[in-house]
Amino acid sequence: IKKIGVLTSGGDSPGMNAAIRGVVRGALSENLEVYGIYDGYQGLYEDNIELLTRRSVSDVINRGGTMLGSARFPQFKEEEIRLKAIENLKKHGIEALVVIGGDGSYMGAKCLTEMGYPCIGIPGTIDNDVPGTDYTIGFLTALNCVISAIDRLRDTSSSHRRISIIEVMGRHCGDLTIAASIAGGAEYAIVPEKPYDESELVEGVAEGIANGKKHSIILVTEHITDVHELSKKIEARTGRETRATVLGHVQRGGAPTAFDRVLASRMGVYAVDLLIQGFGGRCVGIQKDELVHHDIIDAIENKRRPFNEELYRIGQKLF
Ligand code: ATP
Repeated sequence: IKKIGVLTSGGDSPGMNAAIRGVVRGALSENLEVYGIYDGYQGLYEDNIELLTRRSVSDVINRGGTMLGSARFPQFKEEEIRLKAIENLKKHGIEALVVIGGDGSYMGAKCLTEMGYPCIGIPGTIDNDVPGTDYTIGFLTALNCVISAIDRLRDTSSSHRRISIIEVMGRHCGDLTIAASIAGGAEYAIVPEKPYDESELVEGVAEGIANGKKHSIILVTEHITDVHELSKKIEARTGRETRATVLGHVQRGGAPTAFDRVLASRMGVYAVDLLIQGFGGRCVGIQKDELVHHDIIDAIENKRRPFNEELYRIGQKLF
């Protein structure tokens, strides 16, 4: 193999740049050429492709976001769009593609692989919802961001005896919410993997307040309920000022933590090593502290990240 491509796709996450850098420098050290594809699968389709050098990835290890840009490009589900993308890759002589992104991006990589074009997936998303890995790049950076927000809200909630509801990202995965609730000392972690009973929550909060709690911090994963409506209900029931804060895209930005930089660098270099060894159609992960790779088709079709029941249970005991 002589030429490879790299792109970032879907929601960005801190550490994607470190992963791109890992791919580029890992490849150059093995005398491969690396092409950067801008704006994810959209750039692949539009032939927005450029040769990268060592210098192209200077000064990015510490930067959040992605220097290659990212895009949502639902048209990539159509076969003829993907055929054009493969044609563009072949035109540049690019023999394999490294895709850095979440489960949606993996679907794109899986489709290309099924069409005979080898791809390697690197898990880059703050949601930690990708099969075949214990951690995705950006998850722990986002976790620190959520914790710092909780700490700040705790200060002011405590001063004002206020109830705080905080909406956390994660799509359909409660990992960020659970870890943040433990590290931030929240009273409740409402996650998509567990049934949600609104009246039970409202009554629980009311009981805590009746028993003399000064304030309450409730974390809710996005897409479960309207947190502003929920705050109105809790305020009506408890008579206590209740405010909802949607952390939103703040969680996706900022400098990656040391862990994410190291993880991303390792995965980037590892992905290139796999391609050199002749592997295609794989997705890389870290499991029990070791880098691993799985069949990307099998991972998407048959593997689900197991819900961290143990962490959830521990959280329940600490509230
Ligand atoms: P995050 O979860 O962090 O937002 P993601 O990678 O899951 O990241 P998506 O928007 O779901 O984000 O997917 C990114 C892109 O992958 C899509 O915009 C689309 O171009 C491509 N993609 C998603 N699903 C498919 C599919 N079924 N077939 C082909 N391509 C897909």
